[in-house]
Amino acid sequence: MKDVPRAAVIGNPVSHSLSPKLHNYWLSRYGLAGRYEALQVAEDALAHTLRALPEQGFIGANVTIPHKVAVLQLADNVTDRATLIGAANTLIFTDDGRIFADNTDGYGFTANIRQEVPDWDPKAGPAAIFGAGGAARAIIVALADAGVPEIRLANRTRLKAEALKAEFGARIQVYDWVQAGPMLDEVAFAVNTTSLGMKGAQPFKVPLDELSPDAIVTDIVYTPLRTAFLDAAAERGCRTVDGLGMLLHQGVPGFERWFGTRPEVDEATRRAVLS
Ligand code: NAP
Repeated sequence: MKDVPRAAVIGNPVSHSLSPKLHNYWLSRYGLAGRYEALQVAEDALAHTLRALPEQGFIGANVTIPHKVAVLQLADNVTDRATLIGAANTLIFTDDGRIFADNTDGYGFTANIRQEVPDWDPKAGPAAIFGAGGAARAIIVALADAGVPEIRLANRTRLKAEALKAEFGARIQVYDWVQAGPMLDEVAFAVNTTSLGMKGAQPFKVPLDELSPDAIVTDIVYTPLRTAFLDAAAERGCRTVDGLGMLLHQGVPGFERWFGTRPEVDEATRRAVLS
């Protein structure tokens, strides 16, 4: 057992994470030796844990709330995209004892859209983003990279959206939270990145009268898979994409680096994670 490569998701709490199901499914599907665990790590134990893990056979880790920002200070190398996003979700422990940190959330977001909507043209028109938290940062960077010409941003706390505009530049237009409806006029793409709509939270409700049926609409909340926002957009005729695929795709680069095989995200993967 000692030589079996190990990886983990590190968070606090962490029991809700779907990553162990995902990575252990891929390990078994591709017949690879390896183990993927969930490790609950308190904030004050993070630095020590990260340095101790490689000695226990860990070759890498995913990082979730509340450690995504703190790991940047603890890593020896940080990719440009993780620096830009200001958080990391994937760590690689190298043979020489270094910690390499990356952020694959934005990659996961666009890979999911490209898979579900193969003819998605990011340059087709403005994109509307609701929310300005950690996930929104990754999605802004990903959409800007993909060539979206204008990003309209609305957040309950407007100041946070203004801060993202100051950081990420002129392509962002900030709208008031109460203008969320008019913000959808002529957009080609819309995404909810708030935690509204999650099981146990209030629903995310926005007037969709201005939304074109040609727009692609996605929600990164994946519990439930079909949010009220997605259902309302589908009723208007929009193509909709749920948030589970983002979670699955963000795991691909880490798994490939740790275990040497690029895993596929397909219906069988979705079923395995939802089972
Ligand atoms: P976060 O940094 O805590 O940001 C939360 C966002 O939700 C903020 O914009 C916040 O607005 C907004 N919000 C919370 N309660 C609200 C309310 N009652 N009314 C209006 N806005 C409200 O969280 P995050 O990491 O960005 O994650 C956001 C959601 O995305 C979570 O549900 C998370 O599970 C999901 N997620 C999914 C994936 C995936 O792979 N599919 C990846 C990452 C995250 P304020 O700034 O005004 O507080």
